[in-house]
Amino acid sequence: MTEWKNTADIVVIGGGIIGVSTAYYLALNGMKNIVLIEKGTICGGSTGRCGAGIRAQWGTEMNCRLGIAALDIFEQLDQELGMSVGLNQGGYLLVAYNEKELETLRKGMELQNSLGIKSRQINLQEAREICPGLAAEDAVGFFFHGRDGHADPFLTTFAYLEAAKRLGVVCHRHTTCTGILVENNEVRGVETDRGTIHAPVVINCAGAYAQFIARMAGIEIPNWAERHEIMITEPVAPGVCPCMLMSFSGNYYIQQRPHGSIICGMSPAGHPEDFENRSTWQFIEEMSKTLVRLLPRTKGIRIARQWSGLYDMTPDAQPIIGETDVKNFYHSTGYSGHGFMLAPVAGKILAQHIAGKTPDIDFSMLDYRRFARGEHIRESNVV
Ligand SMILES: Cc1cc2nc3c(=O)[nH]c(=O)nc-3n(C[C@H](O)[C@H](O)[C@H](O)COP(=O)(O)OP(=O)(O)OC[C@H]3O[C@@H](n4cnc5c(N)ncnc54)[C@H](O)[C@@H]3O)c2cc1C
Repeated sequence: MTEWKNTADIVVIGGGIIGVSTAYYLALNGMKNIVLIEKGTICGGSTGRCGAGIRAQWGTEMNCRLGIAALDIFEQLDQELGMSVGLNQGGYLLVAYNEKELETLRKGMELQNSLGIKSRQINLQEAREICPGLAAEDAVGFFFHGRDGHADPFLTTFAYLEAAKRLGVVCHRHTTCTGILVENNEVRGVETDRGTIHAPVVINCAGAYAQFIARMAGIEIPNWAERHEIMITEPVAPGVCPCMLMSFSGNYYIQQRPHGSIICGMSPAGHPEDFENRSTWQFIEEMSKTLVRLLPRTKGIRIARQWSGLYDMTPDAQPIIGETDVKNFYHSTGYSGHGFMLAPVAGKILAQHIAGKTPDIDFSMLDYRRFARGEHIRESNVV
């Protein structure tokens, strides 16, 4: 087990992709004595349970900027981290089912194009060339961006962790944060079930549990946990769904992994708060019907496994990044269903800020106080 020290310069709470990438970029930006604590195992939270899709086709300028910057990083991440992250750029094919949605996606495309994201509207025939066997006659439009895709969440997180360790980051697994030390409204460290770590900077990357960590310092953030189910089929011949097929009104995302399995998910009705990683028969039934309706070739294939994980939701489905009312106590949380894909850029810009540099992207509008001010920046392109 890694040697325990009761002082650090920075403590990062949470060993998901957000905490690990943040720790890596802090070290890369010259910060020293960084300790990452994780109550369970690395990737044991939402990161190891996600669909791992990566896209730049967003509906708000902030998410477009974050999305394309993240793609730029993903495309050279193997080289940077010295290990494959399993990037596969089959593109995202977005499906619209009504005129209102078509208009929203068209506006989104115009916004994306204005920011250098080369998404485009395509017809059913082109959609079928990208996604063979697609049966979507009831759709009214399709949008595609070929640089989108997916990566392996375990490989990506472990690649970041190993690179962070090479830069001196210390990682304590099975170490639960039980309190935040605050004096004169400044953070002073963390209490854990293994002892205290005194530190002048603490970063809350605890995913769906970030609200509880925030409360330990007297901060209220309006995020909540929502259980999302997902399943994977047995491997079938490649080429059924090489892109990520996704619809916001249709409430689905479907993609084929490189080894042939098809992975797919949908949002729960009513978006209830829920911390249980339960699985239901109802999900399998509904998801299977959607899968076979869209991709008739999948009829008769077997489901290998189903599971669920938590979305860390905010009222506008955009993350919370930045310092809190307690000096040097930071949040990087509330990533809803897109924290995996945004992690490279989210970790990088927060680290740049903490290191006293100008972040590549100004993220000040993602301050958690926007909710109290009524300044929601609602993202529509979410499942
Ligand atoms: C079914 C599903 C599909 C998804 N699909 C996608 C997708 O296609 N693309 C995408 O970009 N995103 C997707 N997401 C969202 C993505 O998984 C999350 O946004 C992302 O993993 C968040 O990373 P994180 O590091 O913030 O959280 P987590 O991975 O949950 O990590 C937080 C960590 O904090 C630890 N922790 C909590 N409390 C404490 C404590 N007190 N002390 C110490 N450690 C603590 C937890 O154990 C956990 O490991 C999906 C999520 C789900 C559930």
